[in-house]
Amino acid sequence: PPASGYRGRFAPSPTGPLHQGSLIAALASYLDARAHAGQWLVRIEDIDGPRSVPGAAEDILETLAAYGMCSDAPPIWQSNRSAAYQAAFDALLASGRVYPCACTRREINDALLRTDAGHARHTTLAYSGTCRAGLHGRPARAWRLRVPADVDAAAADQPPADPRIRFRDRWQGDRVQDLAREVGDFALKRADGLWAYQLAVVVDDAYSGITDIVRGADLLDSTPRQIYLQRCLGLPTPRYLHVPVLTRADGEKLSKQHGAQALSRAPESRLRALGEAARFLGLAVEAPDQPRFFRDAIAAWRAQVVLRGMPPSNAAT
Ligand code: GLU
Repeated sequence: PPASGYRGRFAPSPTGPLHQGSLIAALASYLDARAHAGQWLVRIEDIDGPRSVPGAAEDILETLAAYGMCSDAPPIWQSNRSAAYQAAFDALLASGRVYPCACTRREINDALLRTDAGHARHTTLAYSGTCRAGLHGRPARAWRLRVPADVDAAAADQPPADPRIRFRDRWQGDRVQDLAREVGDFALKRADGLWAYQLAVVVDDAYSGITDIVRGADLLDSTPRQIYLQRCLGLPTPRYLHVPVLTRADGEKLSKQHGAQALSRAPESRLRALGEAARFLGLAVEAPDQPRFFRDAIAAWRAQVVLRGMPPSNAAT
């Protein structure tokens, strides 16, 4: 590890080329790593074979390089990591925390509708735990991690303290989620046989010794699941910083699925895109050329985010 001990990462899913929205996440994680004199690693999240686009990962890496951001170590590819996911899954299975689930998406939705009718004030998307009591002869589809009503007691063998997962986000502040009620038992292995994103991310972040996760706020809701998994697996919890995500005019997150434009690698486009990304993050920096942009952006991030410990006042929300 670097002298500062800091290790950060950017973890794109290769479902298409890099766009302005993903550039913001990449830039924020890069600036935070450099402002801490730490390492910055890229991980290719190609775990979802069917959604991965051939050539997209290479394209993303080349675009990042053109934009001045290169991984400090050869990128990890999730498609090569199934043995590690299997080992973590086996450990959870052996500890009795995992059970097979036969429910189809349809059955889960129907159960949710019934629950919502009865508890209109507590409308949640949590899995109701139908298969906790066994499959009753139905075939296993997914494998779920049990989320007890009191997650603290389950994770630490301690008397019930707080049934919720709490963490302090460096950008969003104190966050709390009642995992059992708001999420429920969640899948580690999906019905289509693929490893779930939640498991892969936790296993890989620990494997790479990631100390700080900087990513888009669209993943805020996943963080408590990841913290819970870290506890179940005896892994350290990194620090978190979730930056705002770029939305389209209609409020939807800008995404490859919604046809966001690929970033151009032409020099003047790069400087414009980097300048816009920095402004979105609330950093007042010019982009006369790439070296000066990064020098000033790292200094601004250090002064405004690292030392003050809060988001810049004119950042997007
Ligand atoms: N691969 C995820 C995405 O592209 C990011 C995962 C993460 O940063 O934890 O949305």
